[in-house]
Amino acid sequence: MPGDVVVWRNTRAVLEKYGLQPKKSLGQNFLIDRNIRDKIVDAAAITGDDVVLEIGPGVGTLTEELARRASRVIAVELDGALVQVLRDRLPPDRVLVVEGDVLALDLPSLLGEASPIKVVANLPYYITSPIVFRFLEWKGWEMMVIMVQGEVAERLVARPGTKAYGALSVAVALQARAEILFKVSRQVFYPKPQVDSAVVRLLPRHDLGVDLQGPSLLIRAAFGQRRKTLANALAAAPWNPLSKEETEKFLLGAGIDPSRRGESLTPEEFLSLWMEFQRVGKIQDVAGRNGDEGEGM
Ligand code: SAM
Repeated sequence: MPGDVVVWRNTRAVLEKYGLQPKKSLGQNFLIDRNIRDKIVDAAAITGDDVVLEIGPGVGTLTEELARRASRVIAVELDGALVQVLRDRLPPDRVLVVEGDVLALDLPSLLGEASPIKVVANLPYYITSPIVFRFLEWKGWEMMVIMVQGEVAERLVARPGTKAYGALSVAVALQARAEILFKVSRQVFYPKPQVDSAVVRLLPRHDLGVDLQGPSLLIRAAFGQRRKTLANALAAAPWNPLSKEETEKFLLGAGIDPSRRGESLTPEEFLSLWMEFQRVGKIQDVAGRNGDEGEGM
């Protein structure tokens, strides 16, 4: 019997046993193909020395295999009904199941001692961007292997001037080297989503030593109004005290043509522009600096 059928039966059987239906609102599309599961775990090159954080373990399909290979797995699941399933099914000496929202977790307290850790996940697609931003800012990881929707995978690795290039691409490029490893058909999920997926690996980039919180203000302002020139988009940003004319002058002084659009700037240009803003002290402290990074970013 092919392996994928075994996982499929298992997932359905587990849900049925607990009287559960997949919750669309929580992005519950469960992986039901054993080969894909193994390819994801292989991509993270897990050894007995690794501590792995799994985001959204679901019924534990990936978790089981991660637990077989890692020294310890910390699995964070928002759905309390699934937490019960996971605690019943997985060995407690190897897997710590944490009930909670990954976006609200105190990452340093939970994982600080074990870091750098590896992150492996079939992510809940409705909050992919905020999760990626959160981990880029935290930095306590040495590798992330994440399954995301195909279009988001393109954004994670996009280069300037392309349609997919946006705030997420710049943030990723400043903190990591990202690579699409393989595409995944929608057929291998239950229930079947509307879109295909891809598995992406991120490795941290230590050479730039960037603290993303500052530059992300600039990046968000530049891409918040994609159609606008950089001068117009930045002049409208709440943290920028300069008028439009002053912003134009400032950009010229920094060697950036003010009529360019944000989508044409390289990650390195964003970084040096941010450093220039800081150097001349032209940044206002604004409330909500770490506000929500929506999917549209
Ligand atoms: N890992 C499982 C698999 O591959 O079959 C399930 C993946 S499913 C795409 C996403 C999982 O993330 C679901 O189990 C869902 O309940 C969980 N989830 C959704 N929002 C979450 C959040 N904010 N924090 C933690 N887990 C979340």
